[in-house]
Amino acid sequence: MKIISTRKETFHYLAALKMRGRTIGLVPTMGALHEGHLSLVRAAVRETDIAVVSIFVNPTQFGPTEDLDQYPRQEKRDLELLGAAGAHLVFMPTPEEIYPRGYRTYVEVEQLGGKLCGASRPGHFRGVTTVVNLLFHTIRPDRAYFGLKDRQQLIVLRRMVKDFGWPIEMIGMPTVREPDGLALSSRNAYLSSEERAVAPLIQRGLEAAHDAFRSGQTESAALCEIVSRILEREPRFRIDYVQLVNQESLETPMKASAGDFIAVAAFLGNTRLIDNVEL
Ligand code: AMP
Repeated sequence: MKIISTRKETFHYLAALKMRGRTIGLVPTMGALHEGHLSLVRAAVRETDIAVVSIFVNPTQFGPTEDLDQYPRQEKRDLELLGAAGAHLVFMPTPEEIYPRGYRTYVEVEQLGGKLCGASRPGHFRGVTTVVNLLFHTIRPDRAYFGLKDRQQLIVLRRMVKDFGWPIEMIGMPTVREPDGLALSSRNAYLSSEERAVAPLIQRGLEAAHDAFRSGQTESAALCEIVSRILEREPRFRIDYVQLVNQESLETPMKASAGDFIAVAAFLGNTRLIDNVEL
């Protein structure tokens, strides 16, 4: 497994392989890898010739009061896991490599980037689209892999890919969960044992709403209420939002239809967890 930290070397290394007809798969991550990330890496290894994983804790997607400094970093372990998963190249730049002095250029997907998590985390998706666009410039993947746990992120990025005409297939991979249903997340490490014990209620709420939809309930408000009620039973939760939205527009319809999704963001202590379910 090759490890490169500069954009230039990564670009030239991969350009030579592309010339020889190799296909490239990219898995962008912020490190602190878990089985969720590794499921994306394994898919890239299976489906492309050269599986590239980027590890970069992207400062521009964190708000001023968010957890950039505390964000878990465990490079050595990450590299061991990636080696075992069969990754070919790890791109591990420094912040200065990605944003050199005087950096001023940002990518913003209007509207879609301002809803749901974008409303509570202003500038978050602008940071995500900016860095992913820079990764695409450097790596020029044929396929890029993202987790459906962060469904809005994938929707925003797909819009960016369409608008820029990037010839990249955007792949959404199912959410990997703990046995009790909690979606794996690097941020789960912040939870106290009491918080960890109640965290699976998020998925339980989403599944209860999904069951209600299957049994004929289509009122968006009623479906969201089912999720909120389950979370509100546990005083440790502070709900940021529970919203049912359309996958194209991220607008809330009065009546839910198949393909819409319910997204939740909720705090346990200072830890903000997200999850969603597609109806
Ligand atoms: P992150 O390191 O949190 O930026 O995540 C990197 C990629 O892994 C993103 O595409 C995430 O959606 C994806 N990911 C994170 N958690 C999971 C999970 N539990 N299951 C599947 N994919 C995930």
